[in-house]
Amino acid sequence: MSTPHIVIVGGGITGLAAAYYLQRLRRQAGTPLHITLIEAQHHLGGKVGTVYQEGFLIDTGPDSFLAQKPWAVQLCRELGMEEEIISPSARKFYMLIKGKLHPVPHELVSLVPSRPQALWRTTFISLWGKLRASVEGFVPAQKEADDESLGSFMRRRFGKEFALKFAEPLMAGVHAGHPDRLSMAAVYPMYWEMERKHGSITRGLRHLRRQRQPVKGQRDASPFVALRYGMGSLVERLARNLKEVDIWLSTKVTGATPLPDGSTSIHLQHGEPLRADVVIFTTPSYTTAEWLQSIAPDAAHLLRQIPYASTAVVSLAYRREGVEHPLDGSGFLVPRTEPLPVTGCTWSSSKWEGRAPDGSVLLRVFIGYAGADQIVEQGWDDLLVRAAHEALQPLLGIRDEPVMTWVNRWLKAMPQYEVGHLSRLQRVESALSAYPSILLAGSAYRGVGVPDCVKQGKEVAEKAWQKVLNLNRSHV
Ligand SMILES: Cc1cc2nc3c(=O)[nH]c(=O)nc-3n(C[C@H](O)[C@H](O)[C@H](O)COP(=O)(O)OP(=O)(O)OC[C@H]3O[C@@H](n4cnc5c(N)ncnc54)[C@H](O)[C@@H]3O)c2cc1C
Repeated sequence: MSTPHIVIVGGGITGLAAAYYLQRLRRQAGTPLHITLIEAQHHLGGKVGTVYQEGFLIDTGPDSFLAQKPWAVQLCRELGMEEEIISPSARKFYMLIKGKLHPVPHELVSLVPSRPQALWRTTFISLWGKLRASVEGFVPAQKEADDESLGSFMRRRFGKEFALKFAEPLMAGVHAGHPDRLSMAAVYPMYWEMERKHGSITRGLRHLRRQRQPVKGQRDASPFVALRYGMGSLVERLARNLKEVDIWLSTKVTGATPLPDGSTSIHLQHGEPLRADVVIFTTPSYTTAEWLQSIAPDAAHLLRQIPYASTAVVSLAYRREGVEHPLDGSGFLVPRTEPLPVTGCTWSSSKWEGRAPDGSVLLRVFIGYAGADQIVEQGWDDLLVRAAHEALQPLLGIRDEPVMTWVNRWLKAMPQYEVGHLSRLQRVESALSAYPSILLAGSAYRGVGVPDCVKQGKEVAEKAWQKVLNLNRSHV
């Protein structure tokens, strides 16, 4: 029998993690296996990348990741990058309400603070709003529904004011999504399950905190971490590590056909098709859908139903003395009720070390979310820079023009897990069950964050490995 061949399509963080864990499984077992990673762009990383210019460090997509979901931290450790994991230098953040920035105690980042005083210290929620949010623990649980929108869940549990001014921008912003469309069960399964298991988020979080037994001095440690040399350093390290993987850059996949022996023929824009015993598609679901159309039209139809939002990251560098605001926090969030095209701003040079040279500041502005992303899709870069600068100017007392700007426009980049997402995934899986050598993973499916993508890469590698082992057995 010839050496089994696994092809991974897409060299984003999911595809890279899949390749890394497959290579490890192969090494551990000492079994022959040919692994190929195909990427359309001339570089690896997909949405993950870092640019260094004139002393500035700009993460073009993600700039940090959740440490509480351990898979990305674990991967960094395995790659010898533990020393490069950094915690935020600034924790407090702000909420923009009626054109004014209000400080938010960092304890509120987990919705229900470990110290109840944190909620009472906020200056932008009315007394009634605070009272209503603080009785979340007594709101009867609704355990029957299969799913619910994030907005409806938050309003029901914490009251309308807290939901609109705080919970929605905090939680929907990460997904560039509309709170009334995002699926609570898919986007925040932990909170969704807490209501089922503990009756409320307040009780669920209390239980979790007791279990975690915080280390002295580590209470309320930031849930987010970053990498000293930017997220692109993780991609570089992975790429260097993948010595036993054939990496084909600038190679576009155009289709796939199942072969009679159960393998798949992968069609390339240029060159001969490639035969794969197992193929892992980590590409956006709308792209994968095109390839599955002739193989499993039902799966293709369901994949096309996953909408994507476009979003832009506009990074602006200013002279420190030209910005009046102390920038004493990690940035600010913007509820959708505010008349601004901006959904949030990270004060990168305050939040993370080494992002800007002395005497300068780096601010990272987000523009566009599901249903409000025309400006990202149609506007020129100059327009996005202007929109970002003009939004920041009055809020931060900016007197000068930016000294440098960078625009990273991500078109159809943020998959939207709308209500019913998990049941849609189940139907995709059953529609593909007749093709066990075709596997799907990535941000379109079970988590958009970097840790979730790493986890999916690891799990899909294990599945692919099992299939190869079965293949070997059937040839013995
Ligand atoms: C602006 C922005 C900010 C974000 N911030 C954060 C954050 O701070 N923290 C966090 O955890 N997450 C964040 N995310 C989410 C996270 O970055 C992504 O969900 C994750 O990187 C997606 O990885 P992936 O490998 O699944 O997909 P991708 O990165 O999209 O990779 C898919 C790959 O497939 C390739 N491809 C496409 N078509 C073909 C083809 N025909 N042939 C071959 N290859 C093809 C693409 O070129 C790409 O490299 C952010 C995302 C964006 C857009």
